[in-house]
Amino acid sequence: MLRWSRVRLYLSIITCEGLIATMRERVQFTPNTKRYRSPKPSSKAQKSAALTFEPPLWDYCGSLHVHSTYSDGAEPISGVAAAANEAGLDFVLMCDHSNLDAITDRQTGWSGSTLVIVGTEVTTDTGHLLAVDVEPDYLPSPHEAVAAQKHILDKGAIGFIALPCDLKDSWRDFSKHVDGIGLEVFNLSAIARTKINVLGFISIWRRYHSKHRMRAFHLVSARPDEELRLWDRMMRGENGQARKVVGIACVDAHGVMKFMGKTYYFPTYKEVFQTLRTHVLLPTPLRASDDAGADAQNVHNAIRRGHCYMAYDNFADSQGFRFHALSSDGSAAATIMGDAANISSGQGTFDLQAVTPKKKSFMRLLKNGEIVSSGPGNNLRYRCKGPGAYRVEAYLYKFRIGPLYFGVKPWIFSNPIYLAHSSN
Ligand SMILES: [Zn+2]
Repeated sequence: MLRWSRVRLYLSIITCEGLIATMRERVQFTPNTKRYRSPKPSSKAQKSAALTFEPPLWDYCGSLHVHSTYSDGAEPISGVAAAANEAGLDFVLMCDHSNLDAITDRQTGWSGSTLVIVGTEVTTDTGHLLAVDVEPDYLPSPHEAVAAQKHILDKGAIGFIALPCDLKDSWRDFSKHVDGIGLEVFNLSAIARTKINVLGFISIWRRYHSKHRMRAFHLVSARPDEELRLWDRMMRGENGQARKVVGIACVDAHGVMKFMGKTYYFPTYKEVFQTLRTHVLLPTPLRASDDAGADAQNVHNAIRRGHCYMAYDNFADSQGFRFHALSSDGSAAATIMGDAANISSGQGTFDLQAVTPKKKSFMRLLKNGEIVSSGPGNNLRYRCKGPGAYRVEAYLYKFRIGPLYFGVKPWIFSNPIYLAHSSN
């Protein structure tokens, strides 16, 4: 029987849906909302925190969900690590299919300037899951989806639903989502699949064989609309309170592609590592000691807490992006993305602030999936009162005429700050 996902894939190929979406994304309308020109820091403590981004954080970039010859990837881990070194990655997370031999074979740790950490991708009766921060005894994993997610949590690991809205192999039943399991919001392979059509293929092929080969990847570096809508929906709790769901960006890199019975070594590991990354914010720097295990734990902790953001670094280096909340009276410590703050502490209001490292960007602040503030510039401030999950999307643009932006590129997507009313 023909599966609906297959029908969707064929329809998207025929209608060039993905390419049209990319073209549409390049022009956007964003009015300057009043609240964007927002309150100045109201206390000395808040002012200094806003300027220095206290607490100080170390920003490291990595590629997540990478396959090696331990499953269906093209290169052994040493080859993947060499590509990660060349691409300038600080860490790489291997996720071979139901395989943790890399841990027993001692393939983890520093390889040149890249930290290799190992998780796994398991297949359930509903779709794929990533399990991170695991021990070799984690496998085998149950085949039933809910049992597999509980297995992740019971083992103290970090779990993500992978390929949630993929055209080929999506997660088929979201009633089977266990609290505490995160979401692969970006999967570069799944996004690329939406761009496969005759016109899209010709454009990508032409750019790939030109002088500026990396420009081919601009066409697949798109905002995953459906996955973001899903993520916002998953975070909607009761009475406007938000549910924490950590989001990550994954490349699902194999270094090889099979098409009509032929094997192509495209795209290379290095190319995808230069495209989409997850940045983690760490309280202490990596390589502070010789203990690679402690470094891996540092990265795992940030992923577990959602102290991370997702970025298309092929458009511009996103390092330095920050998003935090400060209580308006400066009484509480800054809350960073991934964390929750109680809006009853402080005087009931929080100032959210986001800063990008590029001036020619515009930002949108979303509360429970709805845009509440937007406008140009690399510094967004917003005073908020209500509870909810607040997250930021930053875009680059070429030029603008009033509220119309041209040459828009989706760039940075933060994890949310969860503001909640206290229950007592
Ligand atoms: Zn995979």
